[in-house]
Order: sequence, then C-alpha cells, then structure tokens
Amino acid sequence: MQDTPFDHTHEDNPQENTPKTDSPKQDGFPGDPTDFLQHIREMLGSLGEVPFANIHQAAAEQRNQEERQAKQPNPLELIRQFSLKPREIRDYLDRYVISQTEAKKVLATAVCDHYNHVRRALEDEKVLRHDYAKSNVLMIGPTGVGKTYLMRCIARLIGVPFVKADATKFSETGYVGYDVEDIVRDLVKAADGDVELAQFGIVYIDEIDKIASRSSEGQKDVSGRGVQVNLLKLLEESDVRLVAQNDMMGQMQAMMSMQRGTPQATTINTKFILFIVSGAFDKLDRIIKRRVSSSLIGFGGSPAESATEETLPPTTPDSELLRHVQTGDLVNYGFEPEFVGRFPVRVVLDNLGVPELEKILTTAENGIWEQYVETMAGYDIDLTAEPAALANIAEAAAREKTGARGLLTVLERTFRDYKFELPGTGIKALHLTAEMIREPATALQKLLDEYADSANQLAHAEVAAFAERFRQQSGFALQFTPRATSRLVKQAFAAGKTVRGYCEEQFKDFEYGLKLIHRDNPQAPFEMDEEQVASPQATLTQWIKDSFPQ
Ligand code: ADP
Repeated sequence: MQDTPFDHTHEDNPQENTPKTDSPKQDGFPGDPTDFLQHIREMLGSLGEVPFANIHQAAAEQRNQEERQAKQPNPLELIRQFSLKPREIRDYLDRYVISQTEAKKVLATAVCDHYNHVRRALEDEKVLRHDYAKSNVLMIGPTGVGKTYLMRCIARLIGVPFVKADATKFSETGYVGYDVEDIVRDLVKAADGDVELAQFGIVYIDEIDKIASRSSEGQKDVSGRGVQVNLLKLLEESDVRLVAQNDMMGQMQAMMSMQRGTPQATTINTKFILFIVSGAFDKLDRIIKRRVSSSLIGFGGSPAESATEETLPPTTPDSELLRHVQTGDLVNYGFEPEFVGRFPVRVVLDNLGVPELEKILTTAENGIWEQYVETMAGYDIDLTAEPAALANIAEAAAREKTGARGLLTVLERTFRDYKFELPGTGIKALHLTAEMIREPATALQKLLDEYADSANQLAHAEVAAFAERFRQQSGFALQFTPRATSRLVKQAFAAGKTVRGYCEEQFKDFEYGLKLIHRDNPQAPFEMDEEQVASPQATLTQWIKDSFPQ
C-alpha cells in the first residue's frame, strides 16, 4: 500500500514531527488536524470526485495492519522472555492431545528446563559458559500415538521452528543420501532462513531404533553405528555449515552474496537445539524382561522360575515393561553408551485403546472428526454423526493397530465414495450412522435413491447451464426441448458421468461445426429435440449439409 499522510511512523517519531509542524509548506501538513483535513479536501478537489470516506478508511486500514504487525510477537523475543511453566504447557497439550499423561508431564518439564536455560544463558554470560547437559528426549512408543504431534504442539506454543526426519534416511558418509547435518540445515529453512531463530529450534528424529548397531537378532550393523557417531557430534555443541559441501548452487549463492558485500552467516551452532528421538523399539521389552528376570534371581527367586519369560505375568503390557528401561538395556539393544547418555529424558507412550481413539475423534481440538466436518463443508454438506457411529469408527481404527492413524484410514474408507458421489446431488446434510460404517456402499446407494428427485432436478439445471456456457464461449445459442433435456440427463447417468462432463464431450465439435453453417441471423437458436440429442454428431453433420445450397 502507498504511504498516506496518516502514516503513523511520522506520529511515532517526535523528532520527525517537530520540524514538520514548523514548515507545513515543505513537508505537507501542519500539526492542527483541521488544517490537515482541509489540505486533503483541497487535494481531492483537484482530483475530482474521490470519496473522502474511502481515503479515510484506507488510511485507517493501513494503520490497523501496521499495528497488527507491531503486535505480532517476535519469536526471538519470546525465547528471551520464556516464562512458561510445565503445568501451563501440559494444559495446552491437553487441548490437542488425548491421553499420554506421563509423556505430557515429562516433555513439558524437559522443554521448560531447556528454554529456561536458554533464556538465562542469553541473559548472563556466566550461565552461557557453564557446562550444561541438555534435556534431549528419547520417546518410546508405537506408531500413531501422538509422539510427533506432542512435539509439534509444543514447538508451536513456544514459537520455535520444528523439523522431523526419519533416522533411516541418514547415510553414514553423507556423500550419498541424507546427511545428519542436513536436518539442522532444514531447521534454518523452517525458520525462513533466520539462522538465529533456528539455533533455538527443535529437531525430531523418528525411527531411531533402526540405527541400533546391533539388531535384536544379534547381527551387527556397522552403518547404524556410523550414523550414531555423526549424530553425537550434533548433540554435542558443533557448528554446521549452512551450505552443504555437495550443494553447488548453495555454494555459488554464498559466494555471490560475499562479492556483493552482504556476507551472511555461514554456520549454525547446535548448542541450543533441542533433540528429540523416538522409535517403537520392537523387542526392547524382551531385553528388559531378561534383565528384570535375572535380577529377581538375586532377590530370592529360584533360577528355574526366574530365567524364563513365562515367570513374568503374561498379561504385563509391553509399555509397562518399557517403563523400566535403563541405559544398559538400550546399549544391549545396539546403541553406543555415549549416544544414549545424550538423552537423559526418557518417556514411554501408551498404546491408544478404543476409548482414547473415540476421544481423539470427537473431543480433541482440531481433531480428526473436525477435519472431516470441514472437508464435507467444502462440498456444502453438513456432516453430523450418531454416537454409535463414532464408537464404531474407533473400534475399527483400533483393529488397524496404527494408533490414531487408524482413524484416518477408517474414515477415508467410509467416506471415500460419499465424497465422490454426493457433491452435485443436492444433498446438504449427511448423518453418519453405524450402518454406514458397516456397509458404506449399501448405505450410500440408499441415500442416493432417496435424493434421486433432487439430483434429477439439478441435473436438468446443469443442461441449461451447459447451454449458457456454450453460448458465452461460442456466441451460438443451443436450445434443448424438455424431452431432449431429460434424454441428455438419462444418457449422462447411464454413462456414469456428470451432466457437465457428458455434454462437453457430446457437443465438443459444435462450436466449429456451427461456424461452418451460414446463417442470416447468427443469433437464431439451434434447437435440438430428443432424437437429435441421441446422436449429436449425426445431427451436426446433417445441419452442415442442409446449410449448403443444393
Ligand atoms: P507418532 O506417534 O507416530 O509420531 P503422530 O503424532 O504423528 O504419531 O500422530 C499422527 C496423527 O494422529 C496426529 O497428527 C494427530 O492428528 C493424531 N494423534 C495421534 N495421537 C494422538 C493423541 N494422543 N491425541 C490426539 N491426536 C492424536
């Protein structure tokens, strides 16, 4: 927007204001607002009839926009003033994430520890020089239970950039594939190139269990160890080059900005980046079980009883065992002790049962059901559900064994055909019933049958809409008799097409064909009856023939 006399930057700066009031002729406006308005009126007078109110409104809008921008919190300032309490973070997470009570507490505390330290280190050089063990987090839990979602929510609340990568993507050498340092560079991209802000970001690495150097079957995996060693450098303080060595384009851009005399930061320091790693850790429970069993021997259990897996209650859920994880178990799993040691905060996430999945569907803010309601609203369809239907979705999702992702799978399966078939039928409301989950196809057909009349009416209107579009595009008026319209609708339905698509295909040559026909009055409509729309091409050919003098 152009600068206006109302530009508040002038008002904000007293030094600028003072001389301006002294010399109205030079700078435009005296300090008295009535003179100022008069001046504007005179200006407008010379421009003719420009509504004064519009200019006033535009100026007010610009001022509002600038005020809004000024109020936008600066992310770096938010970090410098970090004052959230663990309970506040937990309360925020409660709005979006269902269950995972322990994880919320542990993560909220770890994040507060970290950003409190960051704030204090930025305030005080002495704190900055202290050795500091970062509260990097290791999350153990099955897929789709909210591990990433929790961290995303936290990053959003704090206002720091967040990136996620799968550990399986990293290659040991970095010459081929994704280098561990690339994830730090991604953080800079997530911060829109703001290196300073990226230094306080959160890096999330999933599938960390896949880089254990020894699989639980006992084989050695050397490349996994190499990736761990590379990651270790990032976990400790290190400077990462912003442009990768094999990124020729990036190198050239950096050189060009140097030559232009605008050198930019070339590295990013990882000291304050918070690292979160996660994985399902299949079979880690067995390692823990073995350890727990053998320690029972020491506490008086008989070796015959304790050494076998059967001695532990068979119903003990995996996550209960996982909660007893110790560094030694992770080392046995195939991690380097130094690597595990960099993740002092460990937390186990729970499996999600049917009740939790149902809550995720219905009560979580921005929940999955809400997203579906929005999607259907995009088609002008008001989506509601009976409680039994939502319970059925949760049950079906639990059988998928992919956590909350199962909800999306089941919803997609249920609604796929509805989203395809309903738009354009005149159906404005959809009430999800248990029957629709059990038999989506049958329930859909029933609904379509119920609305057959309204779909038919809309389809008739579509024929008229096609004729109108044709007239606008080609300048020729095509008219269909009522019987011809019905015939077209029937034919489109029989072909399983929309009326629009069907007509466009059937009459695709008409614009060119009608141009060939000499008419004294080009505006006179071409009318088609029922028989003619049954074979449009033959009709057009006949019309062309008839138009030439015999
Ligand atoms: P993972 O544990 O594999 O990292 P995600 O956190 O990516 O799984 O979960 C996938 C999606 O499922 C999330 O984006 C969110 O919509 C939903 N979700 C998963 N767990 C929960 C939960 N506990 N509460 C609310 N939504 C959840």
